[in-house]
Amino acid sequence: GEKVAVKDFAEKIKKSSNEVIGKLIKLGVMATINQEIDFETAEVIAKEFEIEIEKNVSKVEEKQDLFIEPDDEKDLLPRPPVVTVMGHVDHGKTSLLDAIRKTHVTEKEAGGITQHIGASEVMVEGNKVVFLDTPGHEAFTTMRARGAKVTDIAILVVAADDGVMPQTIEAINHAKAAKVPIIVAINKIDKPGANPDRVKQELADRGVVIEEWGGDVISVPVSALQGTNIDTLLEMILLVAEIEELKANPNRSAVGTVIEAELDKGKGPVATVLVQNGTLKVGDSVVIGTTFGRIRAMLSDKGKKVKQAKPSTAVEITGFSEVPEAGDQMVVVADDKTAREIAENRKDKIKEDQMKKSQRVSLDALYSQV
Ligand code: GDP
Ligand code: MG
Repeated sequence: GEKVAVKDFAEKIKKSSNEVIGKLIKLGVMATINQEIDFETAEVIAKEFEIEIEKNVSKVEEKQDLFIEPDDEKDLLPRPPVVTVMGHVDHGKTSLLDAIRKTHVTEKEAGGITQHIGASEVMVEGNKVVFLDTPGHEAFTTMRARGAKVTDIAILVVAADDGVMPQTIEAINHAKAAKVPIIVAINKIDKPGANPDRVKQELADRGVVIEEWGGDVISVPVSALQGTNIDTLLEMILLVAEIEELKANPNRSAVGTVIEAELDKGKGPVATVLVQNGTLKVGDSVVIGTTFGRIRAMLSDKGKKVKQAKPSTAVEITGFSEVPEAGDQMVVVADDKTAREIAENRKDKIKEDQMKKSQRVSLDALYSQV
């Protein structure tokens, strides 16, 4: 993502570089005035000063051209949690996802363990949990930069033999900025050098205080490699989900977010979308960012054809003319004509904005030559 130097950021929020560096150190980031920090970190620092910052979003303002009816409280029903796994490289994110899938995919499906789409569902004591495969950091940066929120819970993987590392801190900042609860998975406890207490201490130093230490963050010691405590971790996810009271209205037209998208040689543009509200059905007319179409087919995370997808379900969809972008919002509209109109308006608006921008840039260039 884009980064900004500490001194420029300090200037923007009208604080001294030293004040900003002070806050960064408090969060465990050793910084100099020339160091570049990402938006999520800047946001957390700004919050410390009780300042809200926002990115200059020159992208489509999707909500303005499309009114999405808010739900009546009485229509809301519980929905499954959507979880992403974050943490430092090599701390075991992929292994953990694999371990979760292995223990909770039935024998019959086991042959098809190969990933079909960028998400997977597991059943825990009769409750569904959805895991996004998008690396947590990416999910947070790209999605949030576009105003989309797809994650309900962040699993922070920290290797017990390595402890809190730079990307661990980044992950903490992302989750905090997005106000997403964290569950810590202290991984690799099978290793001789494992020191879970040190991890807890280092986390506490960064403001992530686990329950045993008087805080409110749940931590679970696990071994992704040996499958130790995976069930406990899943139970904790359900517990946190319950506290969050996640709800949606399955009885309305669907709204969702693109998790990933690509051009498939045979199928044309395909996208994995997370349905966040309503029920998505084959045949629905949709606007997705600046593309549009009618849902031709839907595949579940297991690669099975499905006719509909309820809230907190990730499905691969086809049937639109262009490849959308990760983070694009998908909205079901009344008919194809409406979908086309909205998508085309958005395209026009982007073109207009670009024109304006290039005019401004050329004027600037003139002035600077004087
Ligand atoms: P990622 O970069 O966070 O996705 O990490 P990976 O899942 O690719 O794991 C990095 C390395 O750590 C691999 O060699 C894994 O086999 C190893 N690893 C992951 N989890 C464990 C664990 O619980 N115990 C041990 N001993 N090794 C693990
Ligand atoms: Mg990995």
